[in-house]
Amino acid sequence: MKISCRQFELELKHPFSISKFTRTSTPLMLLKIEHEGVTGYGEASMVPYMGESYESAAAFLSLVDWDKIQYPFDFKEMISYLDSLAPGQPAIKAAIDIALNDINGKLLNKPCYEIYGADPANMPVTSYTIGIDTPEVIREKLKDAEAFKVIKVKLGRDNDQEIIETIRSMTNVPLYVDANQGWADKIKAIDLIYWLHNQGVVLIEQPMDKNNLDGNAWLTERSPIPLLADEAVQRLADMDDLKGAYHGINVKLMKSCGMYEGHQMILKARSFGMKVLIGCMSETSCATLAAAALAPLCNWADLDGPWLTKNNPFTDPAFENGKYILKDLPGLGLTGITSDLFL
Ligand code: MG
Repeated sequence: MKISCRQFELELKHPFSISKFTRTSTPLMLLKIEHEGVTGYGEASMVPYMGESYESAAAFLSLVDWDKIQYPFDFKEMISYLDSLAPGQPAIKAAIDIALNDINGKLLNKPCYEIYGADPANMPVTSYTIGIDTPEVIREKLKDAEAFKVIKVKLGRDNDQEIIETIRSMTNVPLYVDANQGWADKIKAIDLIYWLHNQGVVLIEQPMDKNNLDGNAWLTERSPIPLLADEAVQRLADMDDLKGAYHGINVKLMKSCGMYEGHQMILKARSFGMKVLIGCMSETSCATLAAAALAPLCNWADLDGPWLTKNNPFTDPAFENGKYILKDLPGLGLTGITSDLFL
């Protein structure tokens, strides 16, 4: 197994602001693995609040004994092995998992979606995310969103209604809301949820603090629209506590350590009677195509990474009528890889 990696600063189209802090790019570790004559690509998107960095990713890669990973891959065992090397660090573990899934598909000459039993005909539309901003900037951002059939809106401050009214003055598309744990009072939150329901909001991510299981469960009992755990769930093992506390979960490959465990989370959610949104961080076509391969198994998709960023080093995913078009290509179906990317 031959491993190459490349640090890559993925630039955001619009600066991402949280109170006094503004971020204009996201560090990625791009990964190339060559094995049995084929090449697989993976990606770690290391958004700063998750605690991974170029340094931690490089240090983790140096811990891996690649001879321990042999084809045919046992993904469950591979993830256990990576977990045994160091706790946490789900993004760099996801990069390895995604690259190996790409190789697996290429060696089987099958697309990853087919290997996971996902039918492209069931692909949900993908939403386009609008961050917290002034009405003027929100109007600008909405112009970039014209190809999308659903808008995802970040709420959780004191101007939630103003943001929704601004968007509603411009478009009638269905809305997803991400409250990012921003609602502290459950009575106010349920009133707002009913108001949002009347405004055409069809799901809400993480209404209250991730540790407030009772508060979120109280809302779930009463909400007319699905409430989903995002910050409250990272990996498969986190799911046992959540049954009944939410209508569903937000699976992200950068939290789940990649496609294998992301798929396991989808299956477990189904066994709990829960719905699934598959989402992404700031990601290129590489990681979002990996998520798109699982998206037909989910209720909703939020895979807008390549359209929120400026310098995707790969070809943008095929996209039509607000949906990813999964191509009949082996592995991830990633194209547009330039020869200098891993020099
Ligand atoms: Mg979220």
